Amino acid sequence: MSAVTPASPGDCFQGLGVSSGIAVGPAHVREASGIEIPEYSIAKSKIATERNRLGRAVQLAQRQIRKLQNRANTLEGLAAEEIGYLLEAYAHMLKDSRLVRDAETRITDERVNAEAAVQHELARIASTFEAMDDTYIAARLEDIKEVGNRIIRNLTLKSIRPFSAAPKGSVIIADQLTPADIAQIDPNRIAGVATTLGGAEGHTAIMARALGLPAVLGAENLLSAVSGGDVVIVDGKAGQVVVLPDKSTLDRYRRRRDNLTRRNRQLNRLRRLPAESRDGTTFSLQANVELPIEMPMVEQAGSEGVGLLRSEFMFMNRETPPDEDEQLSILLKFVAGMNGRPVTFRSLDVGAEKRGQSTIGELNDSAASALGLRGIRLAHLNEDLLLTQFVTALRAANHGPIRILLPMVSTVSEVQKARQTLKFAVAELRRRKLKIPNPMPPLGVMIEVPGAALSADALAQVSDFFAIGSNDLTMYTLAADRANEHVAHLYNPLHPAVLRLIQFTTTAALRARIPVSICGEIAGDPRFTALLAGLGLREFSMTPANIPHVKKRILSMDAVAATTRATLIMDQTDSGRITTLLDDFNNFS
Ligand code: PEP
Ligand code: MG
Repeated sequence: MSAVTPASPGDCFQGLGVSSGIAVGPAHVREASGIEIPEYSIAKSKIATERNRLGRAVQLAQRQIRKLQNRANTLEGLAAEEIGYLLEAYAHMLKDSRLVRDAETRITDERVNAEAAVQHELARIASTFEAMDDTYIAARLEDIKEVGNRIIRNLTLKSIRPFSAAPKGSVIIADQLTPADIAQIDPNRIAGVATTLGGAEGHTAIMARALGLPAVLGAENLLSAVSGGDVVIVDGKAGQVVVLPDKSTLDRYRRRRDNLTRRNRQLNRLRRLPAESRDGTTFSLQANVELPIEMPMVEQAGSEGVGLLRSEFMFMNRETPPDEDEQLSILLKFVAGMNGRPVTFRSLDVGAEKRGQSTIGELNDSAASALGLRGIRLAHLNEDLLLTQFVTALRAANHGPIRILLPMVSTVSEVQKARQTLKFAVAELRRRKLKIPNPMPPLGVMIEVPGAALSADALAQVSDFFAIGSNDLTMYTLAADRANEHVAHLYNPLHPAVLRLIQFTTTAALRARIPVSICGEIAGDPRFTALLAGLGLREFSMTPANIPHVKKRILSMDAVAATTRATLIMDQTDSGRITTLLDDFNNFS
């Protein structure tokens, strides 16, 4: 059932269960701007100070836009032009706009703090624009909001920690949360999250799973129905959010939560067992990680290495990019945590729904869209940045085994160009008289673009290893946005087209005798384990919390039978039939 404003006791909102677990707690509602805005009165004597504070935030925004303009100028052709127009418009708004002038007036007249003054002005402008009901005007409103929110961010950045106002044990309710937002949540303080927007395989969902935060995304009408402080239950498996539950419902969910905790504790006992099937085939189970705070979970899960380190998270939630030394100190935390086991360092993969990175500037939607400047494409436009990442990886490789992985590759030449950059990185180390790692880190390629999968045999000639990114591979193959709840029903890794691409890639790698792993979300779902094993995959990298679940499946599985079942499945053309064949195999073997 889906409810409308406001919720009645016991209302249940259905969304996508993206990170399992049960959270019970008071709701902390975050408004749509995505920024927590403090509001307070100021003394008459403080008006000038507050207006100055606003002035400084506006100046900072102007400097940020100028910096973005400089970066945009280095882009090629249409991209530079597109971004150029937009940034020019922002710069203009910051120089002389009603938004800033009226916010100043509000500070004086209403004696409110600068953040609140800007926020109230934005709300006033929004209501005027919305009344006009015109798509062109609506787009302009988005631009004004972008500028206003930038000023508010500049005002709040230093003083306010995100979600710091949320009481311990609360559940964050929001319209939308970005991966950068989730990365700032302390799972020891926040019980869970629920939003009205978002798909199951976007990075917001992945981050929630990584932090072990129960999460439901895409629950329609939720935000307007919940008030701050309402008790809510988030069931991250069933995808349900219950608002104002009665006592018996609360008791039922609390019992389920306790049972889950007990089951997970039992599973953790598998930690020390090797991941070996009943008939003696050995698998390597590794971890996907984003932030160093995940390392205790990686260790606890008994991971054999880091199969995917999403380095873009080092660049999130900050005003300036981390320099080489800072990147190195973060990377070394992962290396130390793995204590001799390999760490697969993926170069920056921003774009699509992964925003919030200061380094490459905030590209507009068309430049950084899912089909636009993502991953290696963006890196090749910012060679200095890629060079710094490679130098960092080489320096770290002197402390433990490192593999370097390139995201969103679609052509052989992108890999060759990256190899060239890697050579420059070696030369840089030599110039600085730093130790060159021996052996050199292997350079691998993510196979996550259908064209890359179909030319996997050619890519295998220039790559030291493959990592199959089934999340993007599914999205691009089926043209279904992984972060969009409206097409979640079409996003199906069991579609025969996706499976054929995985099989083709695996076969090409095995033929070329290079290692191949899978690190998309299906690698961590025990339902898929037998099928992936049957296709020839032996290395799986996943959210650490899923490692015991996948290991349990492997321990009960017969690898030869899995191969036979995979052969049968690959003869099918219908994903419904594939699902049935797989579920039957899982239930009876
Ligand atoms: C993938 O696309 O499957 C993948 C592992 O990379 P990411 O989820 O970071 O895009
Ligand atoms: Mg990907």
